[in-house]
Amino acid sequence: MRERMQRFMMGRYGNDKMNQVLSVVSMVLVLAGIFLRVNILYTLGLVLLVYVYFRTFSKNIPKRYAENQAFLQQYYRLTGWFVGKKRSLERNKGYRIYKCPGCSQKVRVPKGKGKISIHCPKCGNDFIKRS
Ligand SMILES: [Zn+2]
Repeated sequence: MRERMQRFMMGRYGNDKMNQVLSVVSMVLVLAGIFLRVNILYTLGLVLLVYVYFRTFSKNIPKRYAENQAFLQQYYRLTGWFVGKKRSLERNKGYRIYKCPGCSQKVRVPKGKGKISIHCPKCGNDFIKRS
């Protein structure tokens, strides 16, 4: 059985990061479709799963490889964006960010000081906010 499986997979693309991520996404879609009773999510999940199998058993290895590379680029850009967001959240812990109504410059003020007058460092505008 194992040997037959190995022979079947010979010359075929197999698994990669793109497939791993897509199968998780398809699982989430299928489950969300079941729990929320939204058929389109369920169908999308199944279609995605079929696509993952298609990629796994595909014999066009260079094309699948290129797909994975393009996918990884987007994937790391997205995860990088989240990491950046998380870091800036940690950096701004205990602070609030307000936008100056005059020039929409972002101003960071300490939290929990009650009503305060904020002085915009860019245009010199003063505005009152609750921190
Ligand atoms: Zn300003």
